[in-house]
Amino acid sequence: MSVLLGCIADDFTGATDLASFLVQSGMRTVQLIGVPTEPVDLSNVDAIVIALKSRTLPSQQAVTQSIEALEWLKALNCEQYYFKYCSTFDSTDKGNIGPVTDALLDNLQEDFTVLCPSLPVNGRTVYKGNLFVNNELLSESGMRNHPLTPMKDANLLRVMASQSSGPVGLVPFEIISKGAKNVKKAFLELAKKHRYAVVDTISNEDLHTIGEACADLKLLTGGSGLSVGLAKNYVDKGLFEIRNNSAELSKVKGEAVVLSGSCSEMTQKQVARFKESFLSMKISPLELKSGQNSLANALAWFEKNRNAGALMFYATDTPDNIRRAQELLSVEEASELVENFMAELVAALSQRGVKKFIVAGGETSGAVVKALNPSVLKIGGSIAPGVPLTEMVGDVPKLIALKSGNFGDEFFFEKALEMMQ
Ligand code: ADP
Repeated sequence: MSVLLGCIADDFTGATDLASFLVQSGMRTVQLIGVPTEPVDLSNVDAIVIALKSRTLPSQQAVTQSIEALEWLKALNCEQYYFKYCSTFDSTDKGNIGPVTDALLDNLQEDFTVLCPSLPVNGRTVYKGNLFVNNELLSESGMRNHPLTPMKDANLLRVMASQSSGPVGLVPFEIISKGAKNVKKAFLELAKKHRYAVVDTISNEDLHTIGEACADLKLLTGGSGLSVGLAKNYVDKGLFEIRNNSAELSKVKGEAVVLSGSCSEMTQKQVARFKESFLSMKISPLELKSGQNSLANALAWFEKNRNAGALMFYATDTPDNIRRAQELLSVEEASELVENFMAELVAALSQRGVKKFIVAGGETSGAVVKALNPSVLKIGGSIAPGVPLTEMVGDVPKLIALKSGNFGDEFFFEKALEMMQ
């Protein structure tokens, strides 16, 4: 059976979030880091998510990369295509959600799609076309001060109209609440004069209604939530059977290493808790700079202790200590020293046979993934909401958990270890 759903995500963690939802809905899903340059084994895969890093690129570059990803997916003849963006519709004044959606529609020779960023379980809802973050309008939430994509207007019809080429319509809550058939009718009506439909979405049930109504659209666009109802559509069309084993990963033996470069409050708690039961080594950018600590030293410590159970390397520190390091070096140099160290360390550990990694920090995860350079990540069960266990597919499979900042609870590292057994 061929791949049913081909997705393009505008950032890495967003891709993982979507992939995790698809797995939960019973679809066997892999995540690709960028468009593959080598052939990829896609047997036993129902959905693919290509992770780009296009959210804040200049629009033209975002379009080029997204079209390249679409062309690659089109060669697989997917039943549907999905453009995944953030549930807070993160985009710059010039795009990129509008220009990329336009280009994808044109390339697929389609003239209508849906805009559904909502994720009610995380407090992202849309009412009368306005996006809410918990109880606040998007434009009154913290998102208005985002350093790269400040969202100063909560009205998605206006935001989309300002960065895209066609008229934007609304399927209001009154219609959504009447079920999928009515939503489908509303799409057909809107499509006569509009290119995009913003859909009001207040509850998880609404996402299922909208998903069902999208069964015949070639291109879908939204956050991860819109994906929840799609597996059922494929079942109804006789294309698919829900898989009970969609989250199954290879069994991998051996020791696990935690690498933490996140300094968020939750990560500080996770590190403190883990230290109570496992051996750990603290990494400081100042010590790396002065030569008091080094990769060679860390590897010697690892070799000495590798039989003592899971080990942790952490740069995680208090805000005061981070400030001090940033003042004595610079923000960039402190980050770079830690990120480069983690990247070199993970590569060296991998060479020494370590096959299980738990990584904390969005940027840190980016550096680690780049160093390990997997072509395919198979998505497994959730360790915490939005953070699945993943498998780097290859001759020697590796398990890896990547979590950014505040994800997970205090026991996240222990839970990840347990799921890796
Ligand atoms: P989060 O997801 O919590 O934001 P990130 O990994 O994205 O975590 O960002 C944390 C940044 O802080 C990284 O660039 C990391 O290298 C840097 N960093 C980690 N530890 C320290 C430290 N002790 N001093 C200064 N910078 C640090």
